[in-house]
Amino acid sequence: MSAVKKWLEVVANPPRCCASCDHYATASEGWEEGATCKKFEGSPPREFVEEPNGCDQWTELLPF
Ligand code: SF4
Repeated sequence: MSAVKKWLEVVANPPRCCASCDHYATASEGWEEGATCKKFEGSPPREFVEEPNGCDQWTELLPF
């Protein structure tokens, strides 16, 4: 598989974790001290933010 196809596959199927969730309010797309989940109104711990498939409320980032 070409590098471009792999990249497109990842873009189309992002890991389902807080870091890629529309409910996670952060500017850097990763764990931040005090960043909150708008769905649960809490701050997910660092080890949970990048853990895939840990939450059934994950919502893909909206482009607007
Ligand atoms: S809804 Fe779930 S996956 Fe999304 S930010 Fe909140 S805890 Fe993380």
